[in-house]
Amino acid sequence: MVRKAEAPPGFYRCRIGKMRVCVVSDGPILLAEPGAIFTALSDDEIDASLNRAFLPRGPIRAEQNCLLLQWDDRVVLFDNGMGQSDLFGPLAGRLKQNMVRAGVPPETVTDLILSHGHPDHCWGTMGTNGIPNFPNAAVHISEAEWRFWEACDEPALDVAVAGFREQVVPMRDRMHFFTGGDMVLPGVCAVAAPGHTPGHMAFVVSSEGEQLHVLSDTIFHVPLSFDFPTTPNAYDYDAEIGATTRLALLARMADERARVIGYHAPWPGIGHVARAGDGFRFVAEPMILEGR
Ligand SMILES: [Zn+2]
Repeated sequence: MVRKAEAPPGFYRCRIGKMRVCVVSDGPILLAEPGAIFTALSDDEIDASLNRAFLPRGPIRAEQNCLLLQWDDRVVLFDNGMGQSDLFGPLAGRLKQNMVRAGVPPETVTDLILSHGHPDHCWGTMGTNGIPNFPNAAVHISEAEWRFWEACDEPALDVAVAGFREQVVPMRDRMHFFTGGDMVLPGVCAVAAPGHTPGHMAFVVSSEGEQLHVLSDTIFHVPLSFDFPTTPNAYDYDAEIGATTRLALLARMADERARVIGYHAPWPGIGHVARAGDGFRFVAEPMILEGR
């Protein structure tokens, strides 16, 4: 008898100081072959990197780890996955369901922070019939990112532009803009991380002396983004600036022994960055540290 596949874990809890953390999965997205994205790498380099990580060849499957924070009377969500769209395969779009399972339904969200305007980070903003999925949330996005997508007329970005206008622009009345270095909320500092998109943002979350660095899409693939931090990739709008940002951020995270979360890192995406040869490696945080 064929056993029906069990649903993968949908949420994971831990803490940052007084903040309760819940990483909620939107489900994985299915992307292109690595060779079509990391075009400067040889097949041998890609195969060796994947092999060291015990990953199969073939199209990339990436997690979508949405970070949810709760403290005092705030419920803060970072990014929101693919929503109704199957642009990147049928396995995404589970965020709302998993939030309900986690006991933090979408209507309780007070603040939605968008790292950037790509489909897999903001297409869950609106539900069907133009009704917001997070009806009580203020929305925060970097000013540079908003301006870029609002004005963008590049044919190659048609699909993403149309999605941004459908998903994010209708929230204009509840939009709050920030720039790098700003405190988006108490305990949430924005860190400019341009290149992936012009206004792409990382964040540092701090509470009672503990921190979590939200790397957003500075690294979108484990292990390739870590093994080859300076290699351009086709998902970065400006590949050169993206590489500079990635190298600097990974080096700082490694030197500071910082705790990080990667949106597309292996579930639930929390860990550390270590130096490895000319590059880096992602070291997942054992779940047992949280005493579960
Ligand atoms: Zn992404």
